[in-house]
Amino acid sequence: HADIALYRARQSGRSYTIYDAAHDPYKPQRLTLLGEFRKAIKQGQLQLYCQPKADIQTGTITSAEALVRWMHPDRGMILPDQFIPLIEPTELIQPLTYCMLEAAVRQCYEWSREGRMIPLAVNLSARNLLNANLPESIDDLLKTWGVDSCWMGLEITESSIMADPAASIRVLKQLHQMGLKLFIDDFGTGYSSLSYLLRLPVDVIKIDHSFTMNMIEDPGAAAIVKSTIEMAHNMKMKVVAEGTATRDIWESLARLGCDEAQGEYVSMPMPAMEFSAWLDQSSWAH
Ligand code: C2E
Ligand code: MG
Ligand code: MG
Ligand code: MG
Repeated sequence: HADIALYRARQSGRSYTIYDAAHDPYKPQRLTLLGEFRKAIKQGQLQLYCQPKADIQTGTITSAEALVRWMHPDRGMILPDQFIPLIEPTELIQPLTYCMLEAAVRQCYEWSREGRMIPLAVNLSARNLLNANLPESIDDLLKTWGVDSCWMGLEITESSIMADPAASIRVLKQLHQMGLKLFIDDFGTGYSSLSYLLRLPVDVIKIDHSFTMNMIEDPGAAAIVKSTIEMAHNMKMKVVAEGTATRDIWESLARLGCDEAQGEYVSMPMPAMEFSAWLDQSSWAH
């Protein structure tokens, strides 16, 4: 994990050291990190990173995913896996999500001023789906910045929907009616029931990186990738393969008719404000 983190830091061109809980001189306890997180939101330590998604048939960058990074003043850059699981069971997940939604809508506004339209998808947690005010607060953000809802997407895992399927479906239907695109994230890893897929207004399925990354060596993983693409297409949904790390994987996905790819082969996540410059100098069409 630290290797990936270092790679990302190098790629992002930043001098942040990457936080590693195992070697933290502050020996953070869960409560310390939680306490510090309250400050982090207020003090603007959360930063928006973006990772591109590319159309596999045309090689065009279609959109991006919004990913949070915690720029901690002492510990360095903390990756989401090190703090999201800590705050997800608490109410702090609400201000985190709001902060990311606001940053994402603002970024869309900035891009539109440059004459670019890049759809951006924000990750939601289970508790966000139980917040009946979520659709209204997203609507307010979009109106404030004059951004059309068609540029915003939301990524939701199967497990987060299963926490309270009825309430989640209500909120998701409302968001979909507002015009937001809905993605099922980490597909195939959660505890869920396929029947819910029929009842949800889902536009895109994201194949979990654990299947994509292993699909060359592992026939089982390849079978899951292939079946997921077929099932999604039969249900008139698009498919994004996350964890598209190499050219070999990209080409296998192309043969299987996968729609879009996200991963190291295209680019690792980068600070949102660098995304435009990256697009301009990259060999990907846009
Ligand atoms: P996710 O939503 O499934 O996001 C994809 C993760 O896979 C990202 O990790 C991305 O950097 C990584 N990834 C994609 N392709 C590759 C690849 O080819 N190689 C490698 N090594 N990694 C790849 P990241 O940014 O560390 O985020 C991890 C998870 O944390 C996310 O998984 C998501 O579940 C959660 N997360 C991130 N940002 C947010 C947020 O703003 N809100 C919430 N609720 N969760 C978030
Ligand atoms: Mg995601
Ligand atoms: Mg995912
Ligand atoms: Mg994931």
